[in-house]
Amino acid sequence: MDDYQLLIDLHKSADRQGPGGDAETEQAIFLAMPDRSKPLKIADIGCGTGASALLLARLPKAQITAVDFLEDFLEVLEDRAASMGLSEKITTLCGSMDNLPFQDEAYDVIWSEGAIYNIGFEKGVKAWRRYLPVGGLLVVSEITWLTASRPPELQKYWEAEYPEIDTAASKIAVLEKHGYSPVGYFVLPAHCWLENYYRPMQNRFKEFLDRHKNSKAAQAVVEAEIREIKMYEQYKPYYSYGVYVAKKVDQQP
Ligand code: SAM
Repeated sequence: MDDYQLLIDLHKSADRQGPGGDAETEQAIFLAMPDRSKPLKIADIGCGTGASALLLARLPKAQITAVDFLEDFLEVLEDRAASMGLSEKITTLCGSMDNLPFQDEAYDVIWSEGAIYNIGFEKGVKAWRRYLPVGGLLVVSEITWLTASRPPELQKYWEAEYPEIDTAASKIAVLEKHGYSPVGYFVLPAHCWLENYYRPMQNRFKEFLDRHKNSKAAQAVVEAEIREIKMYEQYKPYYSYGVYVAKKVDQQP
């Protein structure tokens, strides 16, 4: 089994594949869409097994297009939607976030939690802008430095993992540069990482290793996750996910 299949196997049974929380998704919904009864077309990009799509689908008149490039995750999302009676509100689409088959201005809201880093924040916000009308909303979470400086070990670790990691001021500047006006920003609290994401993952390590007969590749997957968790536990005052809500504005030449 290759590394990608191993990652799918480790994460597929989880409620979420990255840091986040229902209350925090609700907070972003409140910032972006205070009128919950409006008809809305929402694309949830990099939806995983549906942590945010299944909440967004509860908005009375929302229609969700849930996009991921992993069919395995979308199948889980479809089963979860069916068991919650939400199948009619969610359409899944298997495809890559850098090559979406959407018409210009097709969505009122582009939503993406813990996923835009796969193509990079700047590339993503630039590419996705055309799917929104002027006034349409982008809601995106992105790993963010919480302070102006940080310990060198931490800086080195994250710059190797994701060189685009930066402060909120820099992320907001990127949004403004690419034709968005910031509406709101907040930081995911520690429980979104620990209770909602890392602890449930840690509880799956043993069965995961057993399933793969303790193979070297499976051990390497677990070791990389353990390193990431240790980094977070040690340095959590310095970074988190920022949740950015921004509105598309007319870009002056
Ligand atoms: N939004 C979900 C959540 O918060 O639980 C999933 C977050 S997970 C960290 C990132 C997701 O992005 C995964 O489901 C992964 O399959 C998806 N992904 C990665 N690269 C992608 C790409 N190029 N196109 C579409 N989806 C992608």
